[in-house]
Amino acid sequence: MRRLRALRPAAVDERGQELVSFCGHCGVRRHPLDATPASRVCGQCGLGLVLQAGADLAPRPDEPFLIIDTSLSVCAMSAAAETLFAIDETDAVNKHIADFLVPADANAPSAENLLTLLVDVAAGSREACTTVVRPRQEYGVRFWARIGPCGSPRAALLVLS
Ligand SMILES: [Zn+2]
Repeated sequence: MRRLRALRPAAVDERGQELVSFCGHCGVRRHPLDATPASRVCGQCGLGLVLQAGADLAPRPDEPFLIIDTSLSVCAMSAAAETLFAIDETDAVNKHIADFLVPADANAPSAENLLTLLVDVAAGSREACTTVVRPRQEYGVRFWARIGPCGSPRAALLVLS
């Protein structure tokens, strides 16, 4: 049995990139092929929906992340992001992403570009990329943000590191 598990094919997206599954709340990863079709709720925390993203993009343990849709509303916020922004996910959902994060530099990319980028990624018309952001209320803090597609349903995943 163990041998068979080790030989399972990797799950890949349409571009052949390896996909991993992770919980939209606690961020725990599991192999996509382990997902039980009956339930998409995380078996670890029992709160988050299991999502998929590229292996390079998906959050590593303790990396705060947010899920954003094409209307730039927050769809999900990880437990680590709840701590970072001092807000409960239930209060964060449906708020605009700009209520939480803005570009770190006034120069590049502009706030509008960050939002355009997120819309394009959420719509599936743009590849993953990285940019620098800061919490809206704090000027001395910078985060690298990995932004790329996740699903389902299709949305933009923003991971802070
Ligand atoms: Zn979980």
